[in-house]
This record gives sequence, C-alpha cells and structure tokens, in this order.
Amino acid sequence: MSAIDRRNFIRMGGALLATPLVVPALVSEASADNDFFQSQWRFCNKCEVMFFNGFPTKGNCPAGGAHNAQGYNFILPHGNQLTETAKAQVNWRYCGKCFSMFWDGSPDKGKCSAGGGHAATGFKFRLPHDIPGDGKNQNNWRFCQKCHVMFFDGYAGKGRCAGGGGHSAYGYMFVLPFDTPPDLSIRSNVTTDGWAPIGGWVQVDAHADGTYAFSGHIHNSGAVNIRYTLAAALVTPTGQTFGFARNGHRVDGTETVFGRNRDDNWSIGDNEIDIMRNWDQVSRSQLYWRIVASDTLRGRIEGLLEDIAKEGFKRLKQALDANPAMQTANVYMKVLQTL
Ligand SMILES: [Zn+2]
Ligand SMILES: [Zn+2]
Ligand SMILES: [Zn+2]
Repeated sequence: MSAIDRRNFIRMGGALLATPLVVPALVSEASADNDFFQSQWRFCNKCEVMFFNGFPTKGNCPAGGAHNAQGYNFILPHGNQLTETAKAQVNWRYCGKCFSMFWDGSPDKGKCSAGGGHAATGFKFRLPHDIPGDGKNQNNWRFCQKCHVMFFDGYAGKGRCAGGGGHSAYGYMFVLPFDTPPDLSIRSNVTTDGWAPIGGWVQVDAHADGTYAFSGHIHNSGAVNIRYTLAAALVTPTGQTFGFARNGHRVDGTETVFGRNRDDNWSIGDNEIDIMRNWDQVSRSQLYWRIVASDTLRGRIEGLLEDIAKEGFKRLKQALDANPAMQTANVYMKVLQTL
C-alpha cells in the first residue's frame, strides 16, 4: 500500500471572473458627460415596459402579478448633474411602487399599476433618443402618454397599460443601450499542495448561444500510478450550477515502465439551452473545482459534484450577504458532462 491511499485526498479551488461593463459608443455621443450606468433594466414580456430587475421582488405588473424579464440587459445612464441635450432627455426615474422607468418631468405622475401616480426614487436617468440604433442600442422605446412609463413599441401589441388597454406612444423615439456579456472563459490551475504528485488545469468556456466546452490537463510527476476524479462547477450569481467531471481517470507514475501515460488531456463540448436562456447570469459565473486522488480510487462523482455546488454557493452567499440588493436563490445543479 502506498502512502497516498491511506488518506482521503481532496483539494478544492475557486476562481473569480470579473465582467467589465461595456459602455456603448452611441450613448457617449448623445450625452458625453454621463456619470454612471445602471444595469438590470429589462423588458417585461407581460406589460412591455422597462422595469428594474435587480431586486428579489419584481414590482407590480399592470398585467397582474410581478414583472417578468425577457431579452436584453439594458444599462441606462444616470447622474446627479445631467442636463438635457438635443439627443437625451432628463427626468426619467425609477418608480419604487411598480419598479417601472417613468417620466417624472410633469406634476402629473401618470398611472401606477400599484395605485395612484408613480413615485420617483433612486437615480436620475437621462435617456438617449433619436439616434440610430445598432447591435448595442435598441430603438422603438417610447413614452406612454397614458401611464407615463417607458415601453417597447416594436411589437404590434402595445402591452398592458395601467391606464387601461395598451400603451400609447408619444414624443421622442428612445434608443436604449444594452450589454451583450462577453464570452465566458475561465481556467483554473489544479494543484494538490503536494499530497499527490499530480496537477494541471481545468477550463470551462461558454457562449451566449449555449455552446460550451469543458477541457483540462492532468500530469503525474511522481512514481505511483494515480487514479483521480476532478469535478468542476460553474456557479451563477443566482446560484444556478452547471457541473462537469472527469471521473476515475488514471495517470501513470514511473512505476509503469511499458506503455506509460503520464498525462491526461480532454476537451469536450456541447450545447445547453439553459446556458443560452440564462446567459446574463452564466456569463458572470465563478468556477469551482475539487479533486480526489489515490491509487485505488473508485467512482464517487455524485457526492463530489454536490459538495462543490454547496461549497460554491456558501462562498457566493457570503458575497451576496455583503450586497443585499442582489438576489439569493437556491442551488440547483445540472450535470452537463461526466467523462
Ligand atoms: Zn410587467
Ligand atoms: Zn409606478
Ligand atoms: Zn401605458
């Protein structure tokens, strides 16, 4: 019996990914002195208004219940000293009652789906209008003269208005910037801190269309043949988890004289609809991994994946507790690959 199967060898690691916020060029043209941008503004596919999706509750939808986000993640410009320009209108505010973006520039506060008029709170937005749209700026956003919210006028149906019937467009043609999160590519070095003579790296790549790849490399630099299982999990900011594992593979030590294979390399890809559907979240995932190795290892992949999902979520929750505006959710794991 070798030294390395007398203990239970487990090592775990996590890697952080920071997603930069991309500021679309068109917005800068329309209003060069923008101070800040806020993300998580979304289209509601029930009432067709622009609402803020950054809180656990989703406001009051005129179509009943809460708003439901669909499509792009809009990033909207705001600031304390913003003046009106020929191509950007001030006095757009968040309504703390219904969570919609509404125009607060007149004494009449419109019709709020939570009752009465809208109630402005938080940031002061200045929104660009009458500029050309492009791959990062969507046009057809309009002011509704009945309820005073920003709604999307690009469909034949005009949504649900708190003033009754569908929304009614008036005034400027707004062109609103959205973020297309970049491709995700996270690589983490895999080490055992010396308890086993193996190491390498693991990598997960994913794209907005749902395609992904799980790849890695493990090398045995020691004498003893080692079997290992490596599990990795992408954990999104809302706790959704995608699991990957390399299960029970052997890398030979120098004790294997003939046909020795000291390296294990793999790369496998596929398509996952839940990655596409939740790209806004998946693109901001963290990668966690755990490795178990010995010279007698048998499969124990289910428990291992569950463990890293829990551990990843525990770390995630610490970050979320420090930022209560973010939503917490239960971990639900989908195992995409074990090979
Ligand atoms: Zn709605
Ligand atoms: Zn309101
Ligand atoms: Zn309306």
